[in-house]
Amino acid sequence: MSANAVQPEKMEFKTELKQLLHLITHSLYSNKEIFLRELISNASDAINKIKFDSLDHEERLEGNKDWKIKITLDKAAGTLTVSDNGIGLSRESAVENLGTIAKSGTRAYLEQLKGQQQAGQRPDLIGQFGVGFYSAFMVADRVTVLSRTVGSPEGVRWESDGQGEFTIEPFDRPARGTDVILHLKESELEFLDPWRLRSIVKKFSDFLEHPVVMDTEEEEEGGEKKTTEEVINSRKAIWLRSKSDNTDEEYKEFYKTISSDFNDPAKWIHYTAEGNQEFRVVAFLPAEKPFGMQFGEYEWGLRLYIQRVLIMDNCEALLPGYLRFVKGVVDSSDLPLNISRELLQANPLLEQIKTNVTRAILKSIDDFKTDDYDKYVKWFGEFGSILKEGPGRDFANREKIADLFLFESMKTPAGEFTTLAKYLEAMPEGQEAIYYLTGDTREQLEHSPYMESYRDKGQDVLLLTDPIDEYMITNLRAYKGKNLEAADRAVASDTVEASEKEKYAKLLEAMKAKLPEVVDVRLTSRLKESAAFLVTEGQLSANMERLMQRMGRDEGGTAKRVLELNGAHPVVANLLRLVEKDPADARIETHARTLYDLAVIAEGSRVKDPTALAKRIAEMLVKDAG
Ligand code: ADP
Repeated sequence: MSANAVQPEKMEFKTELKQLLHLITHSLYSNKEIFLRELISNASDAINKIKFDSLDHEERLEGNKDWKIKITLDKAAGTLTVSDNGIGLSRESAVENLGTIAKSGTRAYLEQLKGQQQAGQRPDLIGQFGVGFYSAFMVADRVTVLSRTVGSPEGVRWESDGQGEFTIEPFDRPARGTDVILHLKESELEFLDPWRLRSIVKKFSDFLEHPVVMDTEEEEEGGEKKTTEEVINSRKAIWLRSKSDNTDEEYKEFYKTISSDFNDPAKWIHYTAEGNQEFRVVAFLPAEKPFGMQFGEYEWGLRLYIQRVLIMDNCEALLPGYLRFVKGVVDSSDLPLNISRELLQANPLLEQIKTNVTRAILKSIDDFKTDDYDKYVKWFGEFGSILKEGPGRDFANREKIADLFLFESMKTPAGEFTTLAKYLEAMPEGQEAIYYLTGDTREQLEHSPYMESYRDKGQDVLLLTDPIDEYMITNLRAYKGKNLEAADRAVASDTVEASEKEKYAKLLEAMKAKLPEVVDVRLTSRLKESAAFLVTEGQLSANMERLMQRMGRDEGGTAKRVLELNGAHPVVANLLRLVEKDPADARIETHARTLYDLAVIAEGSRVKDPTALAKRIAEMLVKDAG
């Protein structure tokens, strides 16, 4: 069948893509040259794919394995072409991959952008979201893709002006691979200048393992022109060079090519492990939460190379989940090359690499905290909640991970933080545990009656308001030999004189009978200003119970509460008098109930029957006025 006999078929872009293309073509993005990085990186991915696919099937290569990415500039036609001999695109994959955005969450992202635009801000499109192939439309008003995929007799021609439709038709392309042809906009013809192009390629793709080539014409003696193919990039993979040979700029650029994050990384590490096995590592801490983490699916893991051959883009087996924001590369000299990805994931050597990389990353985060604290505070705001999954997942490293945490506490001014190490250092003599209180806001916790006795003793209490804290703290349990204790738990060391207990016994009995919500009513020495508060005895803390209720998981497992009373408080003393005078006095129940409700409010929970409470208080006010 001749290619020309078939009419090109018109197809529409998916809605999200239309919106995105509109934003790309209308955004006044100054750094347009990044389109070249995106296209070269796609070409390189395509080469890596066919290389991997043919590891056990050399014949699939059809002898075409002189790997290269070629850039062709055609001044007369006004086109810039990026060609590769990679895996190529079939008709289906062209429609699928070049007509939609695979990344889920794009819609949510676009909604946010629209919101910013409506709010009069100019959305930083590329700054937040790698648009990959479509960045071509920043500089081109038409893009043609010619491709033939491995094993297919027929090629494909895809073309679009980026306005909402594309055409697709068969096309003869004898060699396997892809040409992406950009018909440059009138205003973007500068990209046809070979010098300009060379410098962009060097900037973005110098460390790429595959050669990026361009034809250059040289005039020979006698006026004859001779075309030679010039390799533009130095092709030294960044992780294969020694650290001192790489510039900061090179690390940053490399990060951008592997992360689809367009911001600079916050920090990176680069080292070679020798010993049991040899491998090289370059790993980056992003500065901000990656797009996918905020808006949907997020693929994580390190890029795994074995002897410079890319084996997997996102090897999860190389990182613990609580470090899933880390991007980077591991190149192993010892893992076997001819092995399926499934088997590879189970190889014990991978586990060793993971252990080693985890330790190195935790160390680098710790250095970050020490060396650049202010920047770290912001960074921790982005990634702290993820790190806090650590103690529950990685028992061996739990204290190292805990060292990275920043906490607010009763003694830190709002917006400032302490660490567990600093907390221990500042602990007054006689304090045996690390105290914390979990809840919704710092303000609520600060005013909690639970704080009174700690404040009185000069002890600090960590104020934990991140929903994950509850999970983190129950897994961490102790730090440097000191237990972590919730400030709203009943404490064994609560010492009330025996004579006091006797004096109040009747009142405690009476109140317990009137308040089926609590398992006990007791006297406490921990309260200074408040009359009563609730402590928990069961597994669940009050905060955990609230979190579960909010998630719709009220499994009847309410925390067991004990109402503790401050015997020195006039309200309690007054109640005692009432009980002694007439145990049947109706006011005992009203007041007990009111005290209980106020304690519920103080712990940050919701009163079951607020109307009844309001009514009781109103009646008291009326009496007081009378
Ligand atoms: P990403 O590279 O992040 O997946 P892109 O929008 O850049 O997103 O590319 C979309 C898809 O199109 C790629 O995942 C790949 O499947 C395909 N593609 C793009 N360029 C090429 C190419 N040169 N050769 C083969 N496939 C390609």
